[in-house]
Amino acid sequence: MAETNLLIQTAFVGDLLLTIPLMRWMRRSAPPADRLALFCRKGLGNFFLHTGMVDQLFEVDKTNSSDWRKVKKELQDHHFQTLVSAHQSFRTATIVASLNAHLKIGYQNPWSFWAYDVREKRPMHLPEALRLLALARKLNSELEGHMRDLESSGKDHQIPSLDQPIPPWSSLSLSDFVEDPSTLSVQKVLQILSKIRTPFVCFAPGSVWETKCWTTEGYAQLGQSFHEMGYTVVLLGSEQERVKTQAIAAKIPESLDLSGQTNLFESFLVLRRGSLAICNDNGGMHLACAANTPTVGIFGPTVLKLGYRPWSSRSLIVEKDHSCRPCGKHGSAKCPIGTHVCMTSIQARDVLEVCRKLLV
Ligand code: SF4
Repeated sequence: MAETNLLIQTAFVGDLLLTIPLMRWMRRSAPPADRLALFCRKGLGNFFLHTGMVDQLFEVDKTNSSDWRKVKKELQDHHFQTLVSAHQSFRTATIVASLNAHLKIGYQNPWSFWAYDVREKRPMHLPEALRLLALARKLNSELEGHMRDLESSGKDHQIPSLDQPIPPWSSLSLSDFVEDPSTLSVQKVLQILSKIRTPFVCFAPGSVWETKCWTTEGYAQLGQSFHEMGYTVVLLGSEQERVKTQAIAAKIPESLDLSGQTNLFESFLVLRRGSLAICNDNGGMHLACAANTPTVGIFGPTVLKLGYRPWSSRSLIVEKDHSCRPCGKHGSAKCPIGTHVCMTSIQARDVLEVCRKLLV
């Protein structure tokens, strides 16, 4: 009888996108008829349904305690074969402990023994996509072999380099996704992009954390350079990021600001048609890697050793050395030292130089 397996990741969109390789290995480790369900934040799951990465969604509004109770009850009404939790919080562990599953897998920490049957060490020296794959290593001997080979190679893949591709078995790319031209999202995106007569590059200049944003002036100057080079600039972002994208778009001739107009899946459809994506260290950067679009990430308050590099062989980053970096795990609303020099010291020419390496 077909079973359902469950992946839990209720963190932000970037963290969720980085579970794509884990989703693949969970599928490969289960009988073909099994279903994969995803428990994630409200509004993020549709992308994974549309791209066929999962078959069923449980979504929660994390700010609403009654929604938590409702979703918990829905989850408790199911029996799962294998449950993998990529989320490390105590609250998630208490939910996991209350669910019916044949096998529960989570990360090792001093208190999680009561929630999980298998507790995997989180290999903090590796990028996040590989840390996540450690959760599935005992499910699949082939993956276990890859992880062991990686450990013995001494490579950590922390620094994006065109000379050192990421391991293909850990890819985030959905390049083999086949679009259905009859779906409304595909038709909508084709309609939007029909206005563009040149190749285009995408900018994702927003972030939940203001200090992770490169400057408006920097993006504007970069966009002007791309315009002169014959590219259209397409801006992507959420409705909340619109003030920022509009300010940038206003300074770039013939640019197209799509912020707030495309959902996650539609943004993916736009990105996969673009020549290049330039992003802050944000969800858009990870979405661009999923779209298999060459990606430049601009890093300020965060650093590569935190694990969130763009996970693609066709990605590079731009950063400057400053003694205050990193100043937090996620960035913050305000620069603690009041200068934001980690971003203001990055010039448009620095970013353009890196972009050119990916455009050749
Ligand atoms: S403290 Fe340094 S790294 Fe942090 S936001 Fe300010 S300039 Fe950037």
